[in-house]
Amino acid sequence: MSQGHVRVDDISIRFKGKQGPVTALAPTTLHLAPGSFTALIGPSGCGKSTLMNAIAGFVRPASGAITLDGREITGPSADVGVIFQQYALFPWFTALGNVTFGLKRLGLPKAELHERAMAALAEVGLAQHARKYPQELSGGMKQRVAIARTFAFGPKVMMMDEPFGALDAQTRVVMHDLLIDIWQKHRATVLFVTHDVDEALLLADRICVMSQAPGRIIRDYRLDLPRPRSLRAQAEVLLPIREEIISLLHPSHSKP
Ligand code: ADP
Ligand code: MG
Repeated sequence: MSQGHVRVDDISIRFKGKQGPVTALAPTTLHLAPGSFTALIGPSGCGKSTLMNAIAGFVRPASGAITLDGREITGPSADVGVIFQQYALFPWFTALGNVTFGLKRLGLPKAELHERAMAALAEVGLAQHARKYPQELSGGMKQRVAIARTFAFGPKVMMMDEPFGALDAQTRVVMHDLLIDIWQKHRATVLFVTHDVDEALLLADRICVMSQAPGRIIRDYRLDLPRPRSLRAQAEVLLPIREEIISLLHPSHSKP
């Protein structure tokens, strides 16, 4: 059974601003195939987070509709997991406590709950650190806990909003491999916001590029390339796309 089919159909999103309504997202259509990995890239303020928040059910579109497997998304649910740049862990819970807390609403028996949380932590390589508190963990480890907490649920869809934006370059590389591993195991549909073109090229099957605010999707690339990716080894395909995306993001730089 293939689950996690997201259809965003002609939605636009407005917020009340001080000087009247602000269009945060121009009419946007985006269909995400079950189990696909799509990167979303665009200038700051173009509406990337707004689009994610709409799919996560935090924000309602002013027009248009969003469905998951044919059912309209009307609010947050366990079907859609969310990971932000700030790890959003509870500081008063251990790593294990954070994962367990997230799972509580599944209503599992205590032993099973514990087992599932430990399995999720083991999957992200944190079995040895389960009893540590967030302040005892590095940024990368905190984000591993957040990933474990979200995937432990078995969400059909994962919204990741610049999840590795606060990490150093070396940690990012490790997190990329980890994420691809976990995604290939769980096969959730991923939408991954980044402002790093290389990150998009290394991770995604598809890259959607948004315009300046109010954003809409202006380019849609498909990357049918094996993993693990390498900009050097797959330069022939990746570098021309990289150049194009950079000039779309910084139109003034590409003028002679
Ligand atoms: P991005 O994630 O691409 O940087 P956002 O989706 O966060 O952009 O924001 C898009 C636009 O919508 C921005 O102009 C932002 O100021 C505005 N916006 C986002 N959230 C709100 C809100 N809750 N209230 C008012 N304006 C908002
Ligand atoms: Mg954002």
